[in-house]
Amino acid sequence: MSLEILREAEEINQGYGTFVTLIGTLQKGTPIVVKDNICTQGIKTTAGSKILSTYIPTFDATVIKKLKEKGFFVLGKTTQDAFGFGSFSTNSAYGIPKNPVDKTRVCGGSSGGTASFISLSKNVNYGLGQSTGGSITCPSAFCGVVGLTPTYGLVSRYGLIDYANSFDRIGPITKTVKQAAELLTIISGIDEKDQTTYDKSEDYTKYLGKGIKGMKACYIKETFSEGVEREVRDSVLSAITELKKKGLQVEEISFADLKEMVPIYYIIAMAEASTNLAKFCGMRYGLESSPENKYYSDYFKELRMEFGEEEKRRILVGTFIRMEGYRDAYYTRALKLKNQVTNQFKKIFKMYDLIIMPSMPIVPPKFEDVKKMSPAQNYMTDFLTIPAALTGLPSISVPVRKKGLPVGIQIVADHFNEGKLITVGDAYER
Ligand code: GLN
Repeated sequence: MSLEILREAEEINQGYGTFVTLIGTLQKGTPIVVKDNICTQGIKTTAGSKILSTYIPTFDATVIKKLKEKGFFVLGKTTQDAFGFGSFSTNSAYGIPKNPVDKTRVCGGSSGGTASFISLSKNVNYGLGQSTGGSITCPSAFCGVVGLTPTYGLVSRYGLIDYANSFDRIGPITKTVKQAAELLTIISGIDEKDQTTYDKSEDYTKYLGKGIKGMKACYIKETFSEGVEREVRDSVLSAITELKKKGLQVEEISFADLKEMVPIYYIIAMAEASTNLAKFCGMRYGLESSPENKYYSDYFKELRMEFGEEEKRRILVGTFIRMEGYRDAYYTRALKLKNQVTNQFKKIFKMYDLIIMPSMPIVPPKFEDVKKMSPAQNYMTDFLTIPAALTGLPSISVPVRKKGLPVGIQIVADHFNEGKLITVGDAYER
């Protein structure tokens, strides 16, 4: 690696706040930037939260181990919403990353630092993000880069700091679909350290450079209607026209309950998050303070005040959802609905190879407008990424707008059909 890469990374970091930790020494190999909730041996890993500000893992996450074996080195750990709680990377304890096209706007979340950096860097093409409810798709769309969210279980979560275990996925954020295919080929596959992984890895680069004639896609009418900004709708519809010209068959379908998936997702995500955050008690994990001369209750109270606003909100709401007497009404019911939704999507994939929709309903908003949003309004902006999140389906976000604020097209495929996403995404790029 040249000094040039380091200098550029430092410059971008100063201007856009993309890193929690930037490694300032020269290393050999291909640089990759990694979301800060993926454990890296000897490199501080904070998950964007103050509670982990002193945590230095003694091991590498499986994805990092695999990448190192293929000659990659970690250039830096990128800024994110604490524990992945957010859609704009504004819930971070380590500065807020900015949008590469307009610094007064957000870069999306929660993998915002990775997406913003990949978009800005001339030298670095590879990044890792992580998604629970859309955190690869959203920042990729807002920053004009490619984001690939693999099928749940295709990539090992070992060494990932959990948000919601039944949704969490690690995936590539890159400049091109080809680079995403290369990364996915390396990081995917079964892992004895993660019992939810499948033996389904392939060489995904073999899906590049193919025609799309004969492939059948549908787009969901409701993903282009109410709540979707005109600029987004127009850009994505003209991308669909491009794809049709290349031979993709596209039909319209209706999926009326799309927005109902948002509360289902947040109920499950918050319930799981609240149990995951219980371990940051200052004894097992988390900041240490001296318990001397304090009652235990004071000790814990003091430590847990170090959580940010959104972390506290999710602990409270998630704990409520899991309480005896509420659990059946909320959590168990949400799980049932999640299964129903997954079955509905499986039916669609009996008829179509792909589902197309915008990645996000809006262009990257200004920081001042995000500040004015209520939590519920904030959560609603995820309504297009949540379907794939809830169902564990793979998706790719590809930039469709060359000028102005970035917009992404989101393409979703059936489980373990990443190959189709790569073929279509790559065909569109070409
Ligand atoms: N915005 C969603 C949330 O806050 C998704 C974030 C994510 O995928 N990590 O839960």
